[in-house]
Amino acid sequence: MNLAPNEEQTDLARRLRALGADSLGADIETRDRTAQRLQPGDWQRCADAGVLGLPVPKEYGGLGLSALTCAIGLEGLGAGCRDNGLMIALGAHIWAVELPLMEFGTEEQKRRHLPGLCDGRTVGAHAITEAGAGSDALSLTATARRDGDHYVLDGVKRFITNAPIADVFIVYATVNPALGFTGVTAFLVDRNTEGLTVETRFEKTGLRTVPWGEITLRDCRVPVSARLGAEKQGSRILSRTMAWERALILAPLLGAMSRQIDACVRHARSREQFGRTIGRFQSMSNRIVEMQIRLDEARLLTHRAAWDLDRGTPSYFAEAAQLRTSESAVETFLDALQVYGALGFTTSTDVERNLRDALGTRISSGTSDMQRLVMADKLGLTSRLRAAPTTGPHGAAGITTGGRHAHAR
Ligand SMILES: Cc1cc2nc3c(=O)[nH]c(=O)nc-3n(C[C@H](O)[C@H](O)[C@H](O)COP(=O)(O)OP(=O)(O)OC[C@H]3O[C@@H](n4cnc5c(N)ncnc54)[C@H](O)[C@@H]3O)c2cc1C
Repeated sequence: MNLAPNEEQTDLARRLRALGADSLGADIETRDRTAQRLQPGDWQRCADAGVLGLPVPKEYGGLGLSALTCAIGLEGLGAGCRDNGLMIALGAHIWAVELPLMEFGTEEQKRRHLPGLCDGRTVGAHAITEAGAGSDALSLTATARRDGDHYVLDGVKRFITNAPIADVFIVYATVNPALGFTGVTAFLVDRNTEGLTVETRFEKTGLRTVPWGEITLRDCRVPVSARLGAEKQGSRILSRTMAWERALILAPLLGAMSRQIDACVRHARSREQFGRTIGRFQSMSNRIVEMQIRLDEARLLTHRAAWDLDRGTPSYFAEAAQLRTSESAVETFLDALQVYGALGFTTSTDVERNLRDALGTRISSGTSDMQRLVMADKLGLTSRLRAAPTTGPHGAAGITTGGRHAHAR
């Protein structure tokens, strides 16, 4: 594995950092207070810069970049852009909608949806969570009843990122509740389908600029051609979606952490107490060094997860990247609060908003407990999964991911 970014990757990161710093996330303080609103024009600015189609093949309107290049570019975007909510909106759109479409969509579905998702005309959302199915996502109760050349969808999904602004949803429902998780099937549902309604019930603690909502499907008829993948292939589609999402959705948060660390270094070099700058107190410099080490660890895990995705090697690194990045971000923003003292406890710095935003990332794409549980499964520690013979230095290559927990969020 070559750890040095090449020229293309360095240029992309620099370009997206400038985009984020110069053109995105305006009015973040007001929107954070009023909640659930992206800055008008930001989505299109991201589309125009190619962000919405980073991994999508060129023939469908994207840039066709590798997972590793996407990770490096998106870290640059996050380093420039102060709107972490926008970053999560983009991530849900790219990794939980475009990716499964790329991997499981028919040619007709790809041609119909991907160009608009890449050029900013449409927004995607991914809907699996229900009131009774959170971490145990595949215990969902939404149903898909076959009726001639249609399916009739019924159910309620909640906490769906982008729902209020989405044009197309990937909805998971079961074709036969008696089959348990093996009956789960995925569908592409257009926003204007009769019987689909969206409402916003819960106001978020952090990531307040990205809208989310509850989706209700009542006698919602979709043609058979709207099914994504085969019938009963939903658990496989979700498993692949989670591998991509967990590996890459927090890449911009690495950038936010690095921006925060830079700001802490500047503050520690200028704020004086007891006749010297606070950065000269060893407990303070140790704290900032730990922040940097956490960032470096999270970045390495993210790059390794992306590298494995590019090679098509199953591994636990996606879960490790999601776990370490989300938990490190919370610790890092807590440390930043200490570095700034009372100033960090006010809304005049980005610190408290970053902290509230990071809290959500320990829950979305699966809670920290679930990342550990899936990793334990992949390491062969629980009964449902069997570790295959070790084939590589990390011992996880070639493992089976057929068990239920492998698909849990
Ligand atoms: C910011 C954000 C964005 C989201 N976006 C989407 C989206 O776009 N689409 C979507 O479908 N969903 C989305 N979600 C929902 C998310 O996937 C769920 O919140 C998550 O899977 C956890 O489910 P839950 O909230 O019901 O918690 P629960 O499953 O009720 O968990 C509660 C607690 O129990 C623990 N727990 C549960 N099972 C176990 C176990 N087996 N072992 C140990 N501990 C366990 C959990 O770790 C957690 O601490 C989003 C959530 C957030 C916060």
